[in-house]
Amino acid sequence: MLVVMEAGARPEQIEAVVRQIERMGLKPHPIPGAHRTAIGITGHTGSQDPSNLENFPGVKEVIHVTHAYKLVSREAKPDDTIVSVGGVEVGGNGLAIVGGPCAVESLEQTRAVADGIRRGGGQLFRGGAYKPRTSPYSFQGLGERGLEILARVREEFDLPIITEAIDHESLQLVDQYADCIQIGARNMQNFSLLRSAGRARKPVLLKRGMSATLEELLLSAEYIMSEGNYNVILCERGVRTFSDHTRNTVDLSIVPAIKRISHLPILVDPSHGTGKRNKVLPMSRASIAVGADGVLVEVHHKPEEALSDGPQAILPSTFAQLVTECEAIGRVLGRSLQPALAASR
Ligand code: PEP
Ligand code: MN
Repeated sequence: MLVVMEAGARPEQIEAVVRQIERMGLKPHPIPGAHRTAIGITGHTGSQDPSNLENFPGVKEVIHVTHAYKLVSREAKPDDTIVSVGGVEVGGNGLAIVGGPCAVESLEQTRAVADGIRRGGGQLFRGGAYKPRTSPYSFQGLGERGLEILARVREEFDLPIITEAIDHESLQLVDQYADCIQIGARNMQNFSLLRSAGRARKPVLLKRGMSATLEELLLSAEYIMSEGNYNVILCERGVRTFSDHTRNTVDLSIVPAIKRISHLPILVDPSHGTGKRNKVLPMSRASIAVGADGVLVEVHHKPEEALSDGPQAILPSTFAQLVTECEAIGRVLGRSLQPALAASR
């Protein structure tokens, strides 16, 4: 259910509706928009009939949302959501370019890559401290020590940090240290982790599962939002198909499909999407052309020595070219690169 308030509804009228929804044992989600406020209602309605809210002053209409996803939909919020990641905006008319290594390996390596991201014009830094690896014998990440390195690098290079949480324990730590919590493809349907992320303070970058449909991705975002965290960024990172010339198949058409039905920003990750260094630049260009709010790519100053995902890591020089080309393509579409945070060095 969605309660749409009149354009001129007063704050106390909105408050009265919110209180009534709570009295009914349901959860209200006020969604302020450019033209009007809507209030999403979640929870089991049971014998309650929220349609009666139509009689409250300031209420324009009560809409029965037929899709399974509600808070993520444009019905609930017609204008684009802009998520601030440590002061850098993702969504709207801007473009955000995220770069960094697959994994934080050492302070020296993380600094070297961050320097390349900063000089290359990227605005956000990524790097995993907790790595969900297919083999238990592969490098699993530095854990909390990796988060400390990321926090240090953020201070030095003024790059807000996105890093993955793989379970409840790491989620608490990532929420403390980072600017954005990444939920990876393998955890996209870890519903209890999604609920915890919904109770975290930081925005969430939610990656599409490797065989998830658009609806499943949106419902996972709905899990996070239903707990009260409305700062969700989606990320297409390729899905499994019969094609074997790339690691996964980047499903670019999900970008305009999502944009039609959801207000949430969406990034594309062509690194995991293709698994091949030489395809990251062309697929980044294509991602911007198709309407993505930015790209997230893996960068390493010595890819041949990387402890994970070396074959898909681009060099800092390619990253700089990627930023320049994505900016040029974005300009054609009326979009501009978000400013990086002012360097304090
Ligand atoms: C990653 O971003 O390093 C990662 C593990 O990605 P995904 O969850 O998309 O495989
Ligand atoms: Mn990786």
